[in-house]
Amino acid sequence: MTTHGSCLCGAVRFVFEEAAGPFEICHCNRCRKLSGAQGMPAISVLSNGYRMTQGRELITSYSAPILYGPPAYQSQFCSKCGSPLPTPDPGEESVEIPAGLLDDDPRWLPDKHIFTEFVPSWDRISDDLPQYDMKRLILHREARVLPDDFELRTHYDDVQGT
Ligand SMILES: [Zn+2]
Ligand SMILES: [Zn+2]
Repeated sequence: MTTHGSCLCGAVRFVFEEAAGPFEICHCNRCRKLSGAQGMPAISVLSNGYRMTQGRELITSYSAPILYGPPAYQSQFCSKCGSPLPTPDPGEESVEIPAGLLDDDPRWLPDKHIFTEFVPSWDRISDDLPQYDMKRLILHREARVLPDDFELRTHYDDVQGT
């Protein structure tokens, strides 16, 4: 079943056929700044059923300064209205879609909160979904243990240093 999405001005439109999960609410400071909210809910869908149907010429890309190592945090957005857009990676089987863009029910629910260290002081997580801080997330995704002296970095720190 086709699910539709669009930006604030409606010039950029896309569809996908099948959600694949995960459906994560990311509180990392980059997703917070991109969304202007306490976190960005993003649903992963299968790349082969995803396509931009309108407004491709309006898409602008941004690469954030690297925090830990490549690849850079990438964002694509509508140059007319500023809505963040799906940022497909040609080599990947899935594409993450900012869930607020969806115009239809994706028939899929969020499954976890990630980067929970960055939940801002004015917000609190009030649901029962699992919470993954960065250490737990890296262990879960990459089966890698972060060192005890690992320090969180933020885009904000970078900006302050320049
Ligand atoms: Zn737009
Ligand atoms: Zn994030």
